[in-house]
Amino acid sequence: MARSTIDQLLDGNAGFVTEEWAPNAEYYKSIAARQTPKVLWIGCSDSRVSEHQMTGSKPGTMFVHRNVANIVAFNDVNISAILEYGVVHLKIEDIIVCGHTRCGGIAAIEDGVHENYIADWLCIATGAKEAADRIAKERKLSREEKLAVLTEENVKLQIKHLRNLALIKNMHAKGSLPRIHGWLYRVESGTIDVLVDGQGAVKPAAKKPAKGRR
Ligand SMILES: [Zn+2]
Repeated sequence: MARSTIDQLLDGNAGFVTEEWAPNAEYYKSIAARQTPKVLWIGCSDSRVSEHQMTGSKPGTMFVHRNVANIVAFNDVNISAILEYGVVHLKIEDIIVCGHTRCGGIAAIEDGVHENYIADWLCIATGAKEAADRIAKERKLSREEKLAVLTEENVKLQIKHLRNLALIKNMHAKGSLPRIHGWLYRVESGTIDVLVDGQGAVKPAAKKPAKGRR
């Protein structure tokens, strides 16, 4: 009889223990004693955008928050608690907000949705939609090109939200930490583009995507 998905996950865990954990037992025992992640990751819940895998990282590298469309909600105790624990207690110095191509959340921001909670959630990206509307009109972009622009504008907007949260704003007022990075992961190629570097430099808005990349 075919193994169920759940059985496959448990089989996968057995493989992980023998092929990954055991040969690196010293490392895994060290992180079992205490986690010291270097990065706080804010990404999308999408099943294709696994932060540790796409960056070739071992467990223990990143403290992670994922939600629909990698949003930094300014009234969300969940993300605020993660941020506080990450930057105050774990003393993480780098935060990455990572968007991705083919994001269902981004398409829903563009098209509008009727489901109550999803629509309410995506309202937090309204500013990105307005920016993308303006750029698309100016440049006469196709839908695909506009979705690419909206994806990038959303990362930049969520970074703005992040910088405006009192916790981060107060830290920045005293120095440059935490550094905030904006990335775009391309599900078609597995590659990452840097949209905003840790020094605050922002890539020029909305370049036309290279042909065939989306
Ligand atoms: Zn997504």
